[in-house]
Amino acid sequence: MNYHSLSADQLRETNSELQDLYDALCAAGLKLDLTRGKPAPEQLDLSNGLLALPGTEYRDAAGTDTRNYGGLAGLPELREIFGELLAVDPANLIAFGNSSLELMHDLTVFSLLNGNPDSAQPWGSGPVKFLCPAPGYDRHFAITESYGIEMIPVPMLPNGPDVDACAALTAADPSIKGLWAVPTYSNPTGVTFTEDVTRGLLEMPAADDFRIYWDNAYAVHTLVEAPPTPLPVIEMAAEAGNPNRVYVLGSTSKITFAGAGVSFFGSSKANVDWFSRHLAFKTIGPDKVNQLRHAKFFGDADGVRAHMARHRELLAPKFRLVLDILADRLADSKVAAWSEPEGGYFISLDVIDGTARRTIELAKQAGIALTAAGSTYPYKEDPFDRNIRLAPTFPSTDDLRTAMDGVATCVLLAASETLLASRES
Ligand code: PMP
Repeated sequence: MNYHSLSADQLRETNSELQDLYDALCAAGLKLDLTRGKPAPEQLDLSNGLLALPGTEYRDAAGTDTRNYGGLAGLPELREIFGELLAVDPANLIAFGNSSLELMHDLTVFSLLNGNPDSAQPWGSGPVKFLCPAPGYDRHFAITESYGIEMIPVPMLPNGPDVDACAALTAADPSIKGLWAVPTYSNPTGVTFTEDVTRGLLEMPAADDFRIYWDNAYAVHTLVEAPPTPLPVIEMAAEAGNPNRVYVLGSTSKITFAGAGVSFFGSSKANVDWFSRHLAFKTIGPDKVNQLRHAKFFGDADGVRAHMARHRELLAPKFRLVLDILADRLADSKVAAWSEPEGGYFISLDVIDGTARRTIELAKQAGIALTAAGSTYPYKEDPFDRNIRLAPTFPSTDDLRTAMDGVATCVLLAASETLLASRES
């Protein structure tokens, strides 16, 4: 039944039934966690072959001894594989450490301290602002917040960020230096940017040293037959007359081992040279043994695609389960809407405005941890108190079922409380 068309008496009755359901949920003493997008142990097991690699064959294809220092740009054969998957010329792609977030952090800090190749002065010598399509990824926002960069939320639409809103802002304000973007199966909405939106972002007027952090963390993480073909954004940026505008980022964190994978950074030659120059002060080179084991494990880009198909077999049923429970428990009441992603790691749940915080609090009291309220917005401030990020990958199927059923009860209880309060006021 549609909660919005219930009379006050019917709502009161519904609320009381839900309260009973919720009390039973609390009495069950659950301890479940839907907070972070971590691979499940069975997914990590898919890459256990890495643990025995590279064996004693520690030289790369060119004969380099991977055990030794050097090779700041990373192993050529691994850059070849991921260049194809990220649509970046391997010559302008660095394979680095175990975290792309580290690269994004360093790109930001190097720019604050030194400026990038197009900066007249270091970013940090004046006010710095970033555009933050929201809902978005909390750890992106955490980087910019931690360095006092002002974050400006812009709407995330079904085909990508609102380009008109972005362009109006960047054209008017040269202190806007960056934009956070997750172009494929976005965190948390699942949105994949269209070519039109991408072109708009690459073409829009902005400061010379404005950069798009094109965080393609989920480029190959599909739940359907095949992921979208990656756009050659570095070439497209050059065609748009802004050759240095885009930083492509990615990693194998959710392909192999989340804590022991390989990260990638690709951009124009000028940007890669600039970044490498600064990187050389913090390391003599990345862990090439780990890169070699990844190259041997996959063989080629098709090896990665085949590996992702095995992830999909494990993940698709979990996403299906969550979507089925949401439809079953919440569709009729019309108090929630949710994404049905074709890839990535999240389902984005929108509840009635003003009830996300309450829903998350109710779930917490019942022993179900959800990502903190507001997390998908800059400064953790969801202006609508509406969005909840669900991460279905890590829990077992049984735990996921129990947790999602509990979450649905909390959504309904929070909605009935709010609707009842508005009727009674
Ligand atoms: N970018 C996005 C969009 C992510 O969702 C995540 C992981 N949650 C990361 C980056 C982190 O990547 P890494 O492990 O390479 O630092």
